[in-house]
Amino acid sequence: MTIFEEMNLPRNIAVIGGGASGFMAAITAKETNISSNVTIFEKTDKLLAKVKISGGGRCNVTNATYSLSKLIKSYPRGGKKLKKSFNIFNTKNTVTWFESKGVKLKTEEDNRIFPLSNNSESIVNILISTAEELAIRISLKSKVNKIQITKQGFILNINKEKLFFEKIIIASGGSAKSSGFEWISSLGYKIINPVPSLFTFNMPKNPITKLMGLSVSDVTVSIKGSSLKQTGPLLITHWGMSGPAILKLSSWGARDLADLNYDFTVQVNWLTLNEEIVREKIMKISSNKKIYNHNPFIIPKRLWLFILEKLEIPEDKIWRELSKKNKNRLINTLINDEYEIKGKTTFKEEFVSCGGISLSEVNMLTMGSKRHNGLYFAGELLDIDGVTGGFNFQAAWTTGYLAGKNSAS
Ligand SMILES: Cc1cc2nc3c(=O)[nH]c(=O)nc-3n(C[C@H](O)[C@H](O)[C@H](O)COP(=O)(O)OP(=O)(O)OC[C@H]3O[C@@H](n4cnc5c(N)ncnc54)[C@H](O)[C@@H]3O)c2cc1C
Repeated sequence: MTIFEEMNLPRNIAVIGGGASGFMAAITAKETNISSNVTIFEKTDKLLAKVKISGGGRCNVTNATYSLSKLIKSYPRGGKKLKKSFNIFNTKNTVTWFESKGVKLKTEEDNRIFPLSNNSESIVNILISTAEELAIRISLKSKVNKIQITKQGFILNINKEKLFFEKIIIASGGSAKSSGFEWISSLGYKIINPVPSLFTFNMPKNPITKLMGLSVSDVTVSIKGSSLKQTGPLLITHWGMSGPAILKLSSWGARDLADLNYDFTVQVNWLTLNEEIVREKIMKISSNKKIYNHNPFIIPKRLWLFILEKLEIPEDKIWRELSKKNKNRLINTLINDEYEIKGKTTFKEEFVSCGGISLSEVNMLTMGSKRHNGLYFAGELLDIDGVTGGFNFQAAWTTGYLAGKNSAS
């Protein structure tokens, strides 16, 4: 029993970080134990800065994936371990949580969930006003530089002050560099080397970039020489390739692609069909129609013309006159088109970090540290990251909820 429990003192809980996971943790701690003293320390002068700019200013709060076995498949890192945590607080709970606080939400066709207002301020405002109503203390421009572990709790070095807390929740967000985690790794925690996730592919000066703005609704993209493969819409941009298929591939391949220094070959199957089907269709065509005007597949005309030009098939060539060799080249390009990738671009600056505090350090049912009693982790600083679609916030709400609940119980 700690001195606080013996003397029946209110729990002093510090939440480090005023982002999504920190607010969820602080609010849940106070709602769990109203007599606890909860303080959020935020190093900048802004609260919930990422929530505000998230989802293009609309905040994609979560995703309507209600089956847990499906939900965990949207997390390239941490999914399996998160299942335990999602059993307690999942997407359904997030929806109920916000709606119970008066924020109406809506689900879009692709399952992404946004505030009905289409404005992230609805989320920011409810988190701040709920914290204020609960008398949670908020200390801005308060950077925690160092944590000292004592028998009774934790001494935080904040700016030039030293403050004591019985429990602490670290919710300080991700970092693209391992130096960003030094103040935590110095406590002995294992850090999985962070690298960026969710980026688009650069193809400097590649002729395909002249198709910029073109969207192909269903392609399969893979990384040559690896088993990384994703299917979905692809967007051609002025710098290369983007769209959901590329973002998913960048997310699942975040670590491998960093190891390759973002210099690799992407293979595109423009049809998402296998070779036999495409071969059968192409080999059968023997009409007098011009190849340029007669595209037998569901792909945009601009792309079809681009492929034919790339293969140097003359504009007036008719299907009946296309040689077997050229038919084979066409089949190969349609299902296995290769592009050299040199570098990456962050998607609307919406990157998350892959890596962070190793989940082997954390009890996923409580978000409590396995090393130090009374220390909890929440949010993106953990080695958890999801694909786009509201999954990163869901991980922040879930881990924040568990850290808050268990720190105050
Ligand atoms: C532009 C953009 C758009 C996004 N859109 C979406 C979206 O629509 N849906 C989605 O699911 N995800 C989205 N994401 C990802 C999502 O924003 C993050 O995964 C989520 O914000 C993580 O929450 P967090 O609380 O863990 O960290 P953060 O939001 O990063 O908050 C951490 C806070 O801790 C503070 N801090 C750090 N170190 C200290 C310290 N030593 N002392 C005190 N304070 C400290 C930071 O200043 C920060 O305010 C987006 C990300 C970006 C960058």
